[in-house]
Amino acid sequence: MFNVKLVFLTSLLFVVRLTLGCNDRVDNVPDDEEISEESMNAPTEGSFYSAEDYLSSILLGPWAEDMDLVAAGGVLSISDDGLPDHELLDAYALFDESNISVVSSPYTYEFPLEPVLADEPVDTNLGTIGVAVSGGIFFNPYEGNGEIALDGNFDIGGIPFIDTCNGHPLPTGSEYHYHGVPYCVTDENDTDGEHSVLVGLLLDGFPLYGPQDIDGDAPVDLDRCNGHEGATPEFPNGVYHYHLSETAPYSIDCYAGVVDEALTSGGMMGPPPGGGEMGPPPGGGA
Ligand SMILES: [Zn+2]
Ligand SMILES: [Zn+2]
Repeated sequence: MFNVKLVFLTSLLFVVRLTLGCNDRVDNVPDDEEISEESMNAPTEGSFYSAEDYLSSILLGPWAEDMDLVAAGGVLSISDDGLPDHELLDAYALFDESNISVVSSPYTYEFPLEPVLADEPVDTNLGTIGVAVSGGIFFNPYEGNGEIALDGNFDIGGIPFIDTCNGHPLPTGSEYHYHGVPYCVTDENDTDGEHSVLVGLLLDGFPLYGPQDIDGDAPVDLDRCNGHEGATPEFPNGVYHYHLSETAPYSIDCYAGVVDEALTSGGMMGPPPGGGEMGPPPGGGA
C-alpha cells in the first residue's frame, strides 16, 4: 500500500481517518475517528466535492507502493522517485540515434484538494502535466518539436523511442513520462465493460482515466480538453475528469480546471519552462 500521511487539513474541523489496509503511516490522527456534520456539507461552490471527500476518493486509486501522498494545508502532495512500478526497457532511442536508460528523478507535486473548473481552459505545458498512479508522470501529447509524440514513434535497431506503455524518458534518462494511455497500468486495473480506474491526477487536481467510459467504450462527449462530467469508480456521484484516448491527441491538450501558473511552467521540480524534449523530428536520420 502506498504511504499516506494526513497531517492536517486546515479549515476543517475534523480529521478523516482512512483505513488503508496494513498501512501504519497515518500520522497525527486522533485515536477516535471523528466525522462531524461538516463532512456531509455540500462541496464548496465551484468544486465537485469537499476536500475530505475528494481525498478519500483519490486515495481509492491504485497508487504504487512506494509513493507518498500527503494531505496538508488544502493541497495533496504526491512524491515519488519517478520510477514507475512496472517494467521499463533497458534502452530508449533518441533522435540522434543514440539511446538512453531510465534513471530515477524524484519529484513532489501539489494538487488542490478542491479542484475548480476554470472559466476558460488553459493549454497544457511541455513537461509534467500530472502524475500517474504508477509513479511515472504525464506529459501532454507533444514533443519539444511540436510533433504528437505517439504519432512520431520510431525505433532504431529494435530500440523504440516510446515503449508499449506509451512512455519514455527525457534525453537525459530522467522523468519517465507517458504521452497517452499507459497500457501496462490500465491493463492491470481496468475491466471490460466498465469505466476505467484512476490512472493519475492532472496539476489542476482533476482525476485522469484510461480510455473506457462508464459502459467500457470510448466516451463520446469529451470536451476539447478530453474531459467530461460523470461517475467514475472512485467518484460514484460524478466528477469532472479527463480521459486519455487511443486516437490523437492521446494525452491532454488543455486544463479545464484552475491550475497554478508556476506549475504549468514546468513544475516545481521539473524541467525549465519550455524545456524538455528538443531535437529534430524522427526520420531525419539514416
Ligand atoms: Zn516525451
Ligand atoms: Zn468518464
